[in-house]
Amino acid sequence: MDTNAVIYQDLERILVKREDIAKAVKELGQKLTEKFRGEDAPVFVCILKGASVFFTDLIREIDLPLTTDFMVVSSYGSSTKSTGVVKIVKDLDKPVEGKHVVIVEDIVDSGMTLHYLKKVFANREAASVSIVTLLDKPARRRVDLTVDYSCFNIPDAFVVGYGLDYDEKYRNLPDIGVLHPRIYSAEEK
Ligand code: 5GP
Repeated sequence: MDTNAVIYQDLERILVKREDIAKAVKELGQKLTEKFRGEDAPVFVCILKGASVFFTDLIREIDLPLTTDFMVVSSYGSSTKSTGVVKIVKDLDKPVEGKHVVIVEDIVDSGMTLHYLKKVFANREAASVSIVTLLDKPARRRVDLTVDYSCFNIPDAFVVGYGLDYDEKYRNLPDIGVLHPRIYSAEEK
């Protein structure tokens, strides 16, 4: 779809264009291919649902015999503010003991979700845990977290598109944009 499609009208502005996303994903795929070349097949863990679009594009840029698994953690629900509470709603299908785990997330905000997940995988005795994110909002960090690979640093604004939602909508936008505040201010009054 192009940017005059109807759902684009709920955006204040486009922040990251699809062609820039594609370029960054390709470069990241090459870096990860180099990093894990010669190692046992890493497990790429997709944090659903937000990372789903990024994840499916990213793994197709990685020239390795990797495996995939999926996890659902509690997120924002219909609000744009984090609760700070992290809960595993759906766990992985397979154990990660002795494996290189690459967590693939859509966006790092406070950092609490990934801080928690990193501990979870360390406790499960993964051989290593790497963090990959499409977007990072460093200004919002509330915990000390090392992000191994990030495609774009973005300002403190609520964004949607390319898998990221507001109230389960806008995941299908090919670009990433700042949601117009009129969309959520009406609901949060
Ligand atoms: P953190 O635990 O780092 O505060 O939050 C990470 C999660 O919050 C992300 O996986 C995502 O679900 C949600 N989140 C944080 N910022 C945004 C944003 O700007 N837009 C959307 N759609 N979700 C966000």
